[in-house]
Amino acid sequence: MNLQRFPRYPLTFGPTPIHPLARLSAHLGGKVELYAKREDCNSGLAFGGNKTRKLEYLVPEAIEQGCDTLVSIGGIQSNQTRQVAAVAAHLGMKCVLVQENWVNSYDAVYDRVGNIELSRILGADVRLVPDGFDIGIRKSWEEALESVRAAGGKPYAIPAGCSEHRLGGLGFVGFAQEVRQQEAELGFRFDYIVVCSVTGSTQAGMVVGFADDGRADRVIGIDASAKPEATRAQIARIAEHTAELVGLGRSIKPNDVVLDTRYGGPEYGLPNEGTLEAIRLCARMEGMLTDPVYEGKSMHGMIDKVRRGEFEPGSRVLYAHLGGAPALSAYSFIFRDG
Ligand code: PLP
Repeated sequence: MNLQRFPRYPLTFGPTPIHPLARLSAHLGGKVELYAKREDCNSGLAFGGNKTRKLEYLVPEAIEQGCDTLVSIGGIQSNQTRQVAAVAAHLGMKCVLVQENWVNSYDAVYDRVGNIELSRILGADVRLVPDGFDIGIRKSWEEALESVRAAGGKPYAIPAGCSEHRLGGLGFVGFAQEVRQQEAELGFRFDYIVVCSVTGSTQAGMVVGFADDGRADRVIGIDASAKPEATRAQIARIAEHTAELVGLGRSIKPNDVVLDTRYGGPEYGLPNEGTLEAIRLCARMEGMLTDPVYEGKSMHGMIDKVRRGEFEPGSRVLYAHLGGAPALSAYSFIFRDG
């Protein structure tokens, strides 16, 4: 496998820290050791997150092609678009963001606070469109690209979650390599890696990266799209193509992609009771914040799986914290009483 042949533009602080979740592990019975790897604080660029790691492999191409505007798309409270806005500012490029109406229930400030507020402060041209949740390629997005060209600019297209981008899986192949180095220092290996999945390239990259040492199916995706078949298909497709790109030396098999579909409901962007219990429990046991759209769902999945005994006693489980807390203020209506 050869990830090193792809140019990487540094946007993160370096390897992200891994630390034990000691109080949460003890609270859940102490039979399983939980750890977190902190992609949520991986960069000084507007709080960072999983997209910042992915963008390290896209930016060299944007620079090489002489592009002057990064164009991306997501929901109103997209973490992706906020990270693209920060990266564009950092590079001295312009930024156009298409923000779709991905979430069906929210309060009056939803399109003014959190990620979208930060993207505006970062100087992005934020364009709200009425389309609903979809992880595919959209017309509004083609129009945004065309508008940049029409104004004489040169856009660089970054699809939702970086996922439909040819290079979008590479960042999390790197994550797996980084975990292996950290495991060598820690003196043990993780039995499971828990990761939240929606647009798919985070898990896809991990599947390829961990396939290298036989652990592809130890990457436990927790679906937060509530449309898990589309997410599963997208993970498999991106993993297959990323495996070819880095020369994994074998193809991706259906059972390499593990996606737990029990925690994504009621729909994308809205929490269920279990999501909220997990957010509060994790915050109060560990001081670690998760959000109702993404990490609260994967935290719920991890906690519930521990409670059900789905990880063998003695297992070491690594929770990949991918970010998302900047959206919390858009969900203040849920947490009025804590
Ligand atoms: N967690 C957070 C905080 C995210 O912003 C995203 C983005 O969609 C995800 C998880 C899911 O990652 P992916 O879209 O690569 O599946």
